[in-house]
Amino acid sequence: MRKKTQATILVVDDDPINVQMLAEGLRHQYQVIVANCGKKALEICLNQSPDLVLLDINLPDMNGYQVCKALKNNALTKQIPIIFITGHDSEESELKGLEMGAADYFSKPFKMPLVMARVAIQVDLKRKTDLLESLVDIDGLTGIPNRRRFDHNLDEEWRRAARRKTNLSLCFIDVDYFKPFNDHYGHAAGDDCLKRVAHELDKNVKRAGDSVARYGGEEFIVLLPAISPLEAKIFAESLRVSVQNLAIKHEHSKCAKSVTISIGVATSQPSKTQSKGDLVRVADEQVYIAKSLGRNCVTATELKA
Ligand code: GH3
Ligand code: MG
Ligand code: MG
Repeated sequence: MRKKTQATILVVDDDPINVQMLAEGLRHQYQVIVANCGKKALEICLNQSPDLVLLDINLPDMNGYQVCKALKNNALTKQIPIIFITGHDSEESELKGLEMGAADYFSKPFKMPLVMARVAIQVDLKRKTDLLESLVDIDGLTGIPNRRRFDHNLDEEWRRAARRKTNLSLCFIDVDYFKPFNDHYGHAAGDDCLKRVAHELDKNVKRAGDSVARYGGEEFIVLLPAISPLEAKIFAESLRVSVQNLAIKHEHSKCAKSVTISIGVATSQPSKTQSKGDLVRVADEQVYIAKSLGRNCVTATELKA
């Protein structure tokens, strides 16, 4: 059962009286964060990903519509629901906010019981959307994140590495001689083997920020932010050994007596001359080399800036 944590609400308003009133009412049920300008609000949304934003239209630096637009245009923040709060009590401004993707709208002076009720609706909706999203991102067979989740993680980690000027390593993992495994032991045994390999990889990927995913078929990916190329290769080698140590009998493999994996590792320091697609492509090329070297091994390379 998933732990039910308190939802976080960001209140964006430069009027201390409004902020106090809202925060006072909301903090009994929610964790409340406050920002008094648009720039601060965007920063908080990026770093803390609140579950709901209550957004005033008149702010000192940028207006609420601009903040809303910036949030909706960023893949990392576009799913955060926004409720506009404003003194502009006109149909036109209400419509403008909703058309920009706001979830709801209320005008000052607001009545706290109404605010609480509408906030509760949005928080509940956000919880359900998050749950659905998390289910869509899980591979049905193995229970680990799927390709969709990986694409999202890669995008996020690529940007983060570019911002922080750190490395990003990608291990492309392919099970050796898996077709003969299926052919001889049957599809159900093949499924079971994939589950055990996935579980073993998942168990070994422990560092915060590292992630594992099923890329498709008998291919898996491990993303390793902020380590050196050598450390990435050593880690990949430890994954290879741990899968071999599962000792899943494979009498029809030409490289070992049990199920093994080949791993291609690519490390990059994201720059303008490279794309995240290059990282996947180069790691995939490395797997091809590992296969040609006899399988059950790790090969690695660095992308040059
Ligand atoms: P190599 O050593 O070069 O990697 O050869 P391989 O046999 O592992 O590679 P190939 O791409 O020829 O075969 C992959 C096999 O994986 C074929 C396909 O039937 C099987 N496969 C893909 N997805 C699943 C799945 O979900 N369950 C099962 N049981 N088999 C799968
Ligand atoms: Mg393959
Ligand atoms: Mg294979």
